[in-house]
Amino acid sequence: MDRRTILSWLRQNDPRRLNELWTVADETRRREVGDQVHLRGLIEFSNYCARQCAYCGLQAPHVGVERYRLTKSEILTCVQQIVDLGYGTVVLQSGEDPGTKREWLADVIRNIKSNTPLAVTLSAGERCDDDFAAWREAGADRYLLRFETSNLELFQRIHPPLTGTGKSCAGSETEHPRVAILRRLRKMGYEVGSGVMIGIPGQTFEDLADDIELFGSLELDMIGCGPFIPHPATPLGARSDSPACAHSAPTRDQRPDDQVPADELMTYKVIALARLVCPRANIPATTALATLNRSEGRTLGLQRGANVVMPNVTPARYRAAYDIYPDKACVVETAEACRERLAVQLAALGRTVGCGRGDSRSHALRTQALRG
Ligand code: SAH
Repeated sequence: MDRRTILSWLRQNDPRRLNELWTVADETRRREVGDQVHLRGLIEFSNYCARQCAYCGLQAPHVGVERYRLTKSEILTCVQQIVDLGYGTVVLQSGEDPGTKREWLADVIRNIKSNTPLAVTLSAGERCDDDFAAWREAGADRYLLRFETSNLELFQRIHPPLTGTGKSCAGSETEHPRVAILRRLRKMGYEVGSGVMIGIPGQTFEDLADDIELFGSLELDMIGCGPFIPHPATPLGARSDSPACAHSAPTRDQRPDDQVPADELMTYKVIALARLVCPRANIPATTALATLNRSEGRTLGLQRGANVVMPNVTPARYRAAYDIYPDKACVVETAEACRERLAVQLAALGRTVGCGRGDSRSHALRTQALRG
């Protein structure tokens, strides 16, 4: 798919034409990854964060969040619940928490790998290669790190570098730091996932087309995309008349009709196009999408290219504190209720709950090819 086609789909708003996009994305999904929907149990194990991301409610300066870090035994209890629910993967996600020590997490991973059949996915932000290598060695299978936007200038504006903590782990200053990390994770043997937020203030249609092309050139194994949802305690979510907003307003000359809307329709377009540029990738219908449309967001995502859902299994008392954006869907639902509801919804779509780990087909084929 060439760039002009991607751009014209992103700007397309005729429902009949868009039906063609949904159809081809859904057919590609069925042909390449089948009708199974893989469920990944998500544990948000820490909401401490050292960063100052202008979009995220967990950013260090946000003092209104009650910070928590799960203990090993709390994590392992959630992991057992994931096994009992029949899910094949645990996703361990957190803020960028310097309190998550390399050996501590390696030990958690080893424990999961030696006691369960689960695949382990990590999503703990930007860390040093030594950490990534130790966690891979301990048995971690996959790493998720969204590059958020491929526009480096916009990325740096909304994701300032760490200050005052010594050595940077990011590498060269001309390449997008998260893209550089993704390449290194791939070399270490991880299945690699990334993605973007849709409708970041200052993000243009051209930027988003670049993002989608980058999914293809990185040959991502997993692609997670959701709408940007403003958090009022962050610079990007502050009201335009508040002083915090002055730091975040787009600085480039940008025509108003260049701004990507942070809406549901645009999210479906990106999911569908992601399916077309990475046909075998595992693509979730994200919680942020479900937050915009609680009744149908997930199911429409699954009908327009997605094949994964990541139900939240974080203990109920911590969930509200993992406050990356407001009014997050599924904060109060128990893991069991979510499992029941998904089974009914998937059956109505003619889809089935995935069996086993739901590994990436693209990763499996790439590894086979390397082995010759
Ligand atoms: N600390 C980890 C995990 C962050 S939370 C990391 O940085 O990779 C996972 C994702 O939530 C982020 O990558 C980002 O894309 C998304 N997110 C954060 N704030 C958001 C917001 N306000 N609206 C929508 N998505 C958001």
